[in-house]
Amino acid sequence: MEPQSLAFRERAAAALQDPHLATALRRLESGWQRGRARAAAALPEFEALRDAAVAIKDHVLENLDLYLEIFERRFTATGGVLHWARDAAEARAIALRICREAGARTVTKSKSMVAEEIGLNAFLEANGLTVVETDLGEYIVQLAGEVPSHLVGPAVHMTRERIAELFARHHGGPLKRDSAELVAEARRVLRRRYLEADVGITGANFLVAETGSIVTVTNEGNAELTQGLPRVHLCIASLEKVVPTVEDAFTLLRLLARSATGQEFSAYTTFLTGPRRRSERDGPEAMHLILLDNGRSAMVGGPFREMLRCIRCGACMNHCPVYLAAGGHAYGWVYVGPMGSVLTPQFAGIERTWTLPTASTFCGRCQEVCPVRIPLPKLMRLWREEAHRRRLPPPVARYGLAAWAFLAERPALYRFVTRLAVAGLGLLGRRHGRFSRLPLAGGWTVSRDLPAPSGTTFRALWKARARSRS
Ligand code: SF4
Repeated sequence: MEPQSLAFRERAAAALQDPHLATALRRLESGWQRGRARAAAALPEFEALRDAAVAIKDHVLENLDLYLEIFERRFTATGGVLHWARDAAEARAIALRICREAGARTVTKSKSMVAEEIGLNAFLEANGLTVVETDLGEYIVQLAGEVPSHLVGPAVHMTRERIAELFARHHGGPLKRDSAELVAEARRVLRRRYLEADVGITGANFLVAETGSIVTVTNEGNAELTQGLPRVHLCIASLEKVVPTVEDAFTLLRLLARSATGQEFSAYTTFLTGPRRRSERDGPEAMHLILLDNGRSAMVGGPFREMLRCIRCGACMNHCPVYLAAGGHAYGWVYVGPMGSVLTPQFAGIERTWTLPTASTFCGRCQEVCPVRIPLPKLMRLWREEAHRRRLPPPVARYGLAAWAFLAERPALYRFVTRLAVAGLGLLGRRHGRFSRLPLAGGWTVSRDLPAPSGTTFRALWKARARSRS
């Protein structure tokens, strides 16, 4: 999928006019946001766990080559076949080769953001394979011909009514309004597809170096059916998913579901250690793992290294006022919300994505809730600086910033100009108390009025208050 991120403004403006999207996104605030707060408050060691998680991830990033080597040895010893992929094209080619060698016509797939990152579905389908998503949210967006809009809830932007219409159109039968009925219908359709599949593709939440295990986390059990029923299991994961030990994996798992949805643990957490053994009655005959780099090893030594701590919980987007208004599709690529505003420029290039780091109020909530304490505002600021250095924003934004910097470096002049501007605006806005239009503030007034200032600057008000108290 080619990034559409440069159109963020237009896409976000269109999203703001969509009442169904607003209804759908409100559920994140009342559901997952509150759920996380409750789960964090109920676990006394929550903050200590976050510190431990940061230490684990930083330790892995400092010793990434070592843990990848250990993982490769252990994974191979369990009977798995490991493939290294430098970039998306290499990963896609390996995946297709594995499917062809397995004689596959149909593949089932559980949710994998890395597979989205490399555009795997479209590539396999263009090469004659039928790909069936098995995560309910992914299945819904696949039927709708859309892409996921959230890391954890791919179809979080859709209302139940829209899903009901989609199911009726694709599955036939009467329109169902009840959530349980819709879930039962998806289950009935998907169960058949599991049995038809020759290859099952999953992602991985973690890779455990100590045991060579792949860890998957779902709430629907679809990763287990995707992995366990077909003859061949193919997992696609990125390098930074490796953790040293099972205990480390559990430290991160204790944070993952709490940060994502407020659950103590997801319904299904599975450690897959090698394909079916002779003594076992089920499981895949072969297990392949594609380990994708796609620029990550270069990130390890660079300013965006902290981003590689991400465990894809989605908490940053659940708490981001911009994401909660605009939704995931406004971001124009696979990774959305604050984490996407840092990662997408890394993978797709800042020239094609410079608008994303500007899609932030810098309120800092993303960093506050990130279980691995990624300084997302700082990283977005680094991308803003890079975009500015390359002169990517339009001249009006660049000259505006230059003018502001000129003033900010001259406090006396700054005070004088702001006093003048605030007094003028106060005078102009005295009649209505607000502006419905204002030059240079079109981005604000396009969807709401700008309150008129009192005519006195904040600094002057502050001084007056201090004087009255002394
Ligand atoms: S950046 Fe942090 S909060 Fe956002 S998805 Fe990654 S781990 Fe979760």
